[in-house]
Amino acid sequence: MSDKKRTEIAELGEFGLIDTLTRNATTANKRTIKGVGDDAAVIAAGRDDAMLVSTDTLLEGIDFDLTYFPLKHLGYKAVVVGVSDILAMNALPEQIMISIGVSAKLPVEALQDLYEGIDFACKELGVDLVGGDTTASMTGLVINITTIGRAKRKSISYRSGAQFNDLICLTGNLGAAYMGLQLLEREKRVLRDVENPEPQFAGYEYLLQQYLKPRARKDIVEALAEEKIVPTSMIDISDGLASEVLQICKASKCGARIYLDRIPIAKQTSALAEEMHADPVVAALNGGSDYELLFTVPLAMQEQVMRLGLVDVIGHITRESTGAYLVTPDGNDIRLRAQGFKE
Ligand code: ADP
Ligand code: MG
Repeated sequence: MSDKKRTEIAELGEFGLIDTLTRNATTANKRTIKGVGDDAAVIAAGRDDAMLVSTDTLLEGIDFDLTYFPLKHLGYKAVVVGVSDILAMNALPEQIMISIGVSAKLPVEALQDLYEGIDFACKELGVDLVGGDTTASMTGLVINITTIGRAKRKSISYRSGAQFNDLICLTGNLGAAYMGLQLLEREKRVLRDVENPEPQFAGYEYLLQQYLKPRARKDIVEALAEEKIVPTSMIDISDGLASEVLQICKASKCGARIYLDRIPIAKQTSALAEEMHADPVVAALNGGSDYELLFTVPLAMQEQVMRLGLVDVIGHITRESTGAYLVTPDGNDIRLRAQGFKE
């Protein structure tokens, strides 16, 4: 290693790093339908069915700050983060395994709070906690979540299925979780040396909820099944809209046009962004942690998809050669760029 070239991780970025590390990860088992490269791996289970598996890790100091993240909420959110990747395959989650690395600074009661949140989310989402692992950590709390789901093989939506002219659909609104985090960070800074801190959250409760207790969009996957809609592609919004649109474009070898004025942004998101001299569109594009679903359907399904009453059409799929763009209301095209490795 000493005489080899040294490459900084930052040169590759998160997705470049994953690509580099998994270059040799070809699949040889015939039941491995999809390996690296989607929200979950897909494994054949019987002739028509498949099992889906995904894993996520949350690190104290990187993904959450225990000074303002209640452990009960953190437990709930950990399950949502895990389940979201299964939902993003148009599949339903069934089991979850949670592994924790714990430092001695947390008492047992705090970990019981964490598990109260985990149990609550599991019951709400119909998921069984079936195992995990417990180790000591020198660097703060570590939570790893492995989620297992099931689906009919023909109803699975991959990132790679988007077709020319498909509509790009989005559930919920974007940027609220990111602005919730900005609010918590601001109050933490302002109240750092105050003895009995009283953070000012009035009017922004929705933002806090979206960051501390986001919902998993199981309702969407159920509504799609009811309407017999199988999205041509799907992904969940964990890294921000721009990054997720680019993931679909890369996997589906297509381009996209997203219309800025169609991106749903909640009132509280815009209000706090204005107060903090930030751009709510940047929060929506790059903020992430929304755990909404982004999917594509054929143009002919527009009416059917609008009937769900749960989604906005924010753009459409174009040819790969035209690239991925954000179209502003005055008709300017801005090339979409991903961020990755957010903190
Ligand atoms: P998501 O944001 O949906 O959780 P990621 O961007 O984390 O997805 O991962 C993209 C793909 O890369 C997934 O298929 C994931 O399983 C895979 N992946 C990520 N990190 C690694 C790793 N260190 N080794 C092998 N596969 C990985
Ligand atoms: Mg995902």
